[in-house]
Amino acid sequence: SIVVTGATGQLGRLVIDELLTAVPAASVAAVVRDKEKAADLAERGVELRIADYDRPESLADVFEEGDRVLLISGNEVGRRVPQHTAVISAAKAAGVAQLAYTGILGGPEADFRLAAEHKETERLILDSGLPYTFLRNGWYTENYTGNLAPVLAHGAVVANAGEGRIASAARADYAAAAAAVLTGPAEEHLNRAYELSGDTAWSLAEYAAEIARQTGREITYREVPAASHLEILTGVGVPEPFAAILVDVDEAIGRGALAATTGDLARLTGRPTTPIADTIAEALRRA
Ligand code: NDP
Repeated sequence: SIVVTGATGQLGRLVIDELLTAVPAASVAAVVRDKEKAADLAERGVELRIADYDRPESLADVFEEGDRVLLISGNEVGRRVPQHTAVISAAKAAGVAQLAYTGILGGPEADFRLAAEHKETERLILDSGLPYTFLRNGWYTENYTGNLAPVLAHGAVVANAGEGRIASAARADYAAAAAAVLTGPAEEHLNRAYELSGDTAWSLAEYAAEIARQTGREITYREVPAASHLEILTGVGVPEPFAAILVDVDEAIGRGALAATTGDLARLTGRPTTPIADTIAEALRRA
């Protein structure tokens, strides 16, 4: 089977959608921790395998020999190494044919704090000896467009990212790439790392200008020092440790850490990545 963990998450659902356009539902399985949340997937014919990254014993039966597995990285920053270790051990014990993993653009070269757990996970996968595919995902455009309310309220995109450019793509683009490496001829994708990012890198000033263009309002990029950004984020309720990680990411963006346009994403999906203008328009429609 093709097995997707984190299948009830935002990326996971899109991966399942893509898979179901390419292969029969009976060959797709979803590893989820909440059966209720996955009821719609079961209805579509996807097999549910229930497990929690935090309970290694629950992972014992979720993989079968020969499965092609996508490990979607967990969302609890700081806990992910033991969580991913549990998944990798279970995949190794079962003898899966392919372990794909959603890491971070730049892989071992990514020099910011959020990348640390991804780098460690890739190392653990290499150590496992399993055939792997590293999907080193750049930024989701939705990281920004999912947070339009304060931008519209204050007329400003606030960040400490300098003039750094961001080669983001829509979640759906990354999902299509993941589905492609899971359904295409396995040999083509085994023991390879893809540096996945948008076709075009944009600056936050350009992002602000595009929102301004689409809304007819005055929106600008307000670059602030790291310490001020940290204060702003904690002031609106972001827990300090995570706010610090976001500020650290912005500094990395300022150094160009998420700017690489490799073309890998468009090549895997066979289509251009989604322009930020489209993702902004979609978010404004929903706002
Ligand atoms: P989501 O938060 O929507 O999805 C995370 C998924 O992981 C959910 O399905 C969640 O399950 C599952 N999960 C978390 N903890 C556990 C656990 N203990 N056991 C089993 N499943 C678990 O994130 P996205 O889909 O948007 O992104 C996918 C991943 O990509 C994120 O988890 C994160 O690692 C990374 N990411 C990448 C970004 C980028 O820009 N490239 C930005 C943000 C995150 P449940 O549905 O039950 O909650």
